Amino acid sequence: MPAELNHLDYYRLPWNYADNGISWLEPTTDCNLRCEGCYRDPHGHGHKTLEEVRADLEVFKKLRKSDCMSIAGGDPLVYPQIIELVSMIKDMGWKPIINTNGLALDEKLLWKLKNAGVYGFTFHIDTSQKRPKVTAATEIELNELRLHYAKMLAKVGGIACSFNATISDKTVHEIPEMVRWAQDHADIVHTVVFILFRSPSLTGNFDFYANGEKIEVQDTYKEAEWGGERTLMAPDIVEKIREADPMYEPAAYLNGTANPDSFKWLLGNRIVFNGKTMGYVSPRFMELVQTFDHLFTGTYLAYADPKSVSRGKLAAFFIGLVDKQMRKIFFNILKASLFNPLKFFLPAYIQSFMIIQPVNFEPDGRQDMCDSCPDITVHDGKLMWSCRLEEVKNFGAFVQTVPVK
Ligand code: SF4
Repeated sequence: MPAELNHLDYYRLPWNYADNGISWLEPTTDCNLRCEGCYRDPHGHGHKTLEEVRADLEVFKKLRKSDCMSIAGGDPLVYPQIIELVSMIKDMGWKPIINTNGLALDEKLLWKLKNAGVYGFTFHIDTSQKRPKVTAATEIELNELRLHYAKMLAKVGGIACSFNATISDKTVHEIPEMVRWAQDHADIVHTVVFILFRSPSLTGNFDFYANGEKIEVQDTYKEAEWGGERTLMAPDIVEKIREADPMYEPAAYLNGTANPDSFKWLLGNRIVFNGKTMGYVSPRFMELVQTFDHLFTGTYLAYADPKSVSRGKLAAFFIGLVDKQMRKIFFNILKASLFNPLKFFLPAYIQSFMIIQPVNFEPDGRQDMCDSCPDITVHDGKLMWSCRLEEVKNFGAFVQTVPVK
């Protein structure tokens, strides 16, 4: 049974088209892996020159504020000038975040990236990938690989560590174990994101049009058996996370462009102390963080550094002065250190579990996209949804859906 959630109970992130937490840069379409359900053609346009990438960044500078710049692709670590690019992004005022499958990363490269100013990594690891020398057949078996990267980042230090996994009908049952694993490593695993798999056959019965012409989308969006037979929605995932942690409660969201009550981005932040969940932060906590960050830095916060996420106790104390849910978390921490007051000095970590529910199609053909898309990218000098860029490249326009009569 999917969880019953009311969007009005949560904080609607203030992110918008022009002023957002995140922007999305693609310096390359090349990749050293092939994930099922990947929406980018790996044999596409290859690497952009550094000057072309700078031009994309200038478009962002002109049109949109954001806290961080996700460097994606393709895989950005196969981009030959990745070090120069990271330092260019930092110099232009964004936190550089590398979205990678991790395959090309070793400690030597990590040090170079850190010295260039990398702020965080989001590793995309899941069973939709066929990794050389990795025999894992389940998401749970992949936890060892996830831990390898989390430990590598922790050893170098000072870098935010997130993991993405695309989740399909066939892997959704593994979420509770993935959550338990992440919870056991809250000191070095800062964020886990579950991205729900989409493919044309799961969308419903539609004809597809671009520029007024009927088109076929099968070559653009390859079907994958891995995707299963059911379209997953955010409440399905909340239910699964709660199997591992019944306290799980989201605090903030982005709604859909067709439905104000759909959860396109749904975020819950756990405060963990001495290995145990003390509670999940309140919507008001999220509101205060976003408001104050914007007030003092001029942008909405998307990525926090590892030092800040180890200050959960301080956050619970100060925001607890004005918020009941955070006060409760602070008292839970006090209770947990009652019989051993020295424990009180242990850090309390803030760990995020997030769900991304990409496009859904309404029966009347309307498309429910993420309102205030954070992963918007630049194409031909314009801002466009990165998840559907291939449509523009292949058909010259975003695809429209019309119910089959
Ligand atoms: S609209 Fe597409 S690109 Fe934008 S955040 Fe949603 S899934 Fe990502």
